[in-house]
Amino acid sequence: MKPYFTTETIIAPIDIYPIKKADFSVWFADQTDHDKNWLTAMGFSVDSNKVGLIPNQHGKLAKVIYPVEHFDGLWQLAGLPAQLPAGIYQLQGLTTQQYELAACGWGLAIYKFTRYKTPKNGQAAVLYLPKTVNIDAVETQIDATNLVRDLINTPAEHMGPADLATAADIIAKQFGVDIKHIIGDELLKNNFPAIHAVGRGSKKAPQLIDMTWGDPTHPKITLVGKGVCFDTGGYDLKTASGMRLMKKDMGGAAQALGLAQWIMTSKLPIRLRVIIGAVENMVSGDAYRPGDIIPTRKGLNIEIGNTDAEGRVVLSDCLALACEDKPDMIIDFATLTGAGKIGLGPDIPSLFSNNDEVAKQLVTISMQCDDLVWQIPLYKPYREYIDSSFADISNDSSSPYAGAMTAALFLNEFVDTQIPWVHFDIMGWNMKTRAGRPEGGEAMGMRAVYYYLQNKCKLV
Ligand SMILES: [Zn+2]
Repeated sequence: MKPYFTTETIIAPIDIYPIKKADFSVWFADQTDHDKNWLTAMGFSVDSNKVGLIPNQHGKLAKVIYPVEHFDGLWQLAGLPAQLPAGIYQLQGLTTQQYELAACGWGLAIYKFTRYKTPKNGQAAVLYLPKTVNIDAVETQIDATNLVRDLINTPAEHMGPADLATAADIIAKQFGVDIKHIIGDELLKNNFPAIHAVGRGSKKAPQLIDMTWGDPTHPKITLVGKGVCFDTGGYDLKTASGMRLMKKDMGGAAQALGLAQWIMTSKLPIRLRVIIGAVENMVSGDAYRPGDIIPTRKGLNIEIGNTDAEGRVVLSDCLALACEDKPDMIIDFATLTGAGKIGLGPDIPSLFSNNDEVAKQLVTISMQCDDLVWQIPLYKPYREYIDSSFADISNDSSSPYAGAMTAALFLNEFVDTQIPWVHFDIMGWNMKTRAGRPEGGEAMGMRAVYYYLQNKCKLV
């Protein structure tokens, strides 16, 4: 069990009372003079999102008051661990489901990326978990998210294509999964020319990672991840500020691995395949150039309008491969465009799909699990923006508008129309620390997809 959880009651836990902000004055009127006077003297405000720590007559912490909007949701109580002194706590007044959500938020809030920075001493607050809470489910979700965070937060120097492959190997070994790596020039021999073209400019060889798990008779779900371990933009170089966070450009691959780990640990009855195109988009004497026309696995030729639109080029081969064994669904995650984030901001992934029913279900579930995603249409008339005069398609749009959509329309060209396909354009990064969500790498849309798949399995 995580060090910040316990099921022991040797030491009586300190009670935390989440209080709905709207009900605060009624609740307050009902308290003892001691507690009322203490909270007033400490300047406790229901609007502050700060804990109220109330001592007993001996000066020991006796209970904690915490104002919330409501009791449901992952983040409502996620501000607690950062504000509590060391000790063992239990939450009062919650249903089992609310307790589980709060426990997930608690664990996600305690995450720290410690590889390069020794955490300051100080024991984390420990949450007591009653027997009714499904501890495995809570911890599996926390582990999946924290794996995504760790992989994204690791700088490109230590998270190149081979390191990403090692991360996949570790998961594969843990679950006894078949995993294949096609590396460097082997990509050309095995007909992955687009992945090779983008990655060949780096000293760190590009590679395709392909793993399969589960009973072949179960529904076949294939996850595809963009694994651009660092994106300079290639010769159409990014600006300094545009390049600053580009260690996160493998966030889609990280999320595919995190979700795979979650699915396999939970033993969802699906046949899972994970395909990752892992490259570094660098400049060198061997890097691909603007104006180059490169072949793809699917057979379409791509004119490179801009070497910074490399993610879709890498994904073109990954998606073509994903279609070959005719899965029941393909889901890709990619930190693909800035335009997606201009539209919906950093927190909300744009969702595109060739199947509106699947998209609607995903959006509905995303709202229920505090992991909002939002559908943008695949509006076919904009396909002409990525026409090329010299090749089948351009990786660069001729229009300044609808950049996330033209990227999705590009990917759509590499997917069989018969196969339901969902594409998530994600940020993969918390721009600032909020309750439960520290600044840095973050899973986005992963919970929505997990619960969608879990639900789908129940219906089969
Ligand atoms: Zn790029």
